[in-house]
Amino acid sequence: CGIVGIVGSEPVAGRLVDALKRLEYRGYDSAGVATLEHGAISRRRAEGKLGNLAQKLAFEPLHGRIGIGHTRWATHGAPTELNAHPHATERVAVVHNGIIENFREMLADLAKDGYLPKTQTDTESVALWVSRELANGADPELAVARTLKKLKGAFALAFLFKGEESLLIAARHGAPLAIGYGTTEMYLGSDAMALAPFTSRLTYLEDGDWAVITPTGVTIRDGLDAIVQREQQISQTSA
Ligand code: GLU
Repeated sequence: CGIVGIVGSEPVAGRLVDALKRLEYRGYDSAGVATLEHGAISRRRAEGKLGNLAQKLAFEPLHGRIGIGHTRWATHGAPTELNAHPHATERVAVVHNGIIENFREMLADLAKDGYLPKTQTDTESVALWVSRELANGADPELAVARTLKKLKGAFALAFLFKGEESLLIAARHGAPLAIGYGTTEMYLGSDAMALAPFTSRLTYLEDGDWAVITPTGVTIRDGLDAIVQREQQISQTSA
């Protein structure tokens, strides 16, 4: 039910959990984070409160300087650690708010090529679809662009890619998502509350928008993949 992301210059795991705490008011049943550890996607997830996730991270820290985090309010699949986000393959990790209405149809298509789900969520269909596009030679941007055209439903999404230490991709379609501007880092959050500890400069994506986020800036495209300019705001929310 909440999404956060950091394209950072310092380790992100602890800061992702802190930002998720600021989204607790939305309610959730489980939580998780993913970062890149020497380029490889690495995740920690836990049922229940964010304290459980923080405890896992204390025992098995993540050191990556780029990452995504999620608090889940289950719609498809029980609120277990297995079903907690981020969902990932070797190549991509994704966090998702909302519902992918056509996930069964997507999974049936993916199964023909041997891409089989390990969880009961609607979200895993997105991770698998992007993975198949990547395996077919698409770069991350093209893989996401193609996947977004397939999805039906209301969603906010954030993607992290194996080996891509300075790239997050985010998409908004019926669920809110904002990009925060730092000086050496960039941020992603469901709302200004989540971003407040990092920055007060932010841009809300509009419905259909998707964004390529790097440490130095962001490129936003609309639903037809045309580059668009979205207004930057100064948030009054305090940290
Ligand atoms: N539909 C997804 C799930 O059940 C995301 C739920 C949410 O918005 O947290 O895993």
